Amino acid sequence: MRPGRPTCRAPVVSAGESGSEGRDAVNGLHKTGIPFCTRTWPVVRGCDNALRCARNCWAKRDCWRMAHHSDPKIAEQFEGLTEKQCPPYCTEDCRPFYGADASKRIDRCRSNRLMWTGLIRTYPELLDAPLGTRKPQVIFVAPQGDLALADGATVSKIVRTIYMAIELGHEFLMLTKRPGLLVPMLPRPAFDAGRFDHLWLGVSCSRQADFDERAGAICDPSSPGYWPGRRWVSLEPQLEAIDVSRWIGSLSWTVQGCESLAGRRPGRPFHWDWAAAVRRECIEAGRPWWLKQVSQGGRVLEPVSMCGRLVRDAPEAIGAILQKCSPVAPE
Ligand code: SF4
Repeated sequence: MRPGRPTCRAPVVSAGESGSEGRDAVNGLHKTGIPFCTRTWPVVRGCDNALRCARNCWAKRDCWRMAHHSDPKIAEQFEGLTEKQCPPYCTEDCRPFYGADASKRIDRCRSNRLMWTGLIRTYPELLDAPLGTRKPQVIFVAPQGDLALADGATVSKIVRTIYMAIELGHEFLMLTKRPGLLVPMLPRPAFDAGRFDHLWLGVSCSRQADFDERAGAICDPSSPGYWPGRRWVSLEPQLEAIDVSRWIGSLSWTVQGCESLAGRRPGRPFHWDWAAAVRRECIEAGRPWWLKQVSQGGRVLEPVSMCGRLVRDAPEAIGAILQKCSPVAPE
């Protein structure tokens, strides 16, 4: 089989700006186009540039865009999270074109680089947000950054709210690239065994080495990042073939997808074989598998089926909520 070719015709639908948050907020929770959750809870935002993923980070682009929102109240919430910098190798002299105002120059120069500033902002007014929504939701916690970089006190408050909000029937998704930092901050003794089941701790991986390290961290009981509750993995953006067989039995859910750039343009190549291989592992292990997006014909598309089978399978608790309250595309 030639890499990059679909194994069969896959019906697809155009994807919305899945990461982007709509302007609509309900009791502090935001409607979202991310298809596997129904609300986002942006209680913390921000990240740093330490990991390779920072280069093409969707959250960074989104925070920069929102910091330039026409509504100053919205723009203010994103202030200071991102900045544009002239790279050291830049040879363009923009001064004659844009004058002495450096920020204006950097803003317009095409060789500039968008960076996280390293500021991690907490929004105290949103700490209780999930308690104000009585209809059960699948809530993605802090999607615009890495929660692992927040301080321990903030993470404790977030977990306390989750603990209380579980009574309302919500399911919570957390995703990190630094499980070794995040998990020790989660106040586990505060939970009883049943409540662990509603906080889904996931790791995001683009390559095999990421998967081995991060999935191993949450699944291996001897690791400081070990999470005794429900575990999931997001292979997005997937940049190479990933063999998930080592940890698939310890994971409750696998989400997979290609890289998507601004304007839903496809990024680096994504091969259908990679999806077929992960699907096979998930089916064999009896685990749900969700193919979020693929690149096809110069566009990023959301497939609905592959070889006649649905490609969006979620764990029962999450799937039940998704069926009742389908996600709303952002404005
Ligand atoms: S960890 Fe997440 S938020 Fe931070 S740079 Fe990487 S992709 Fe972006």
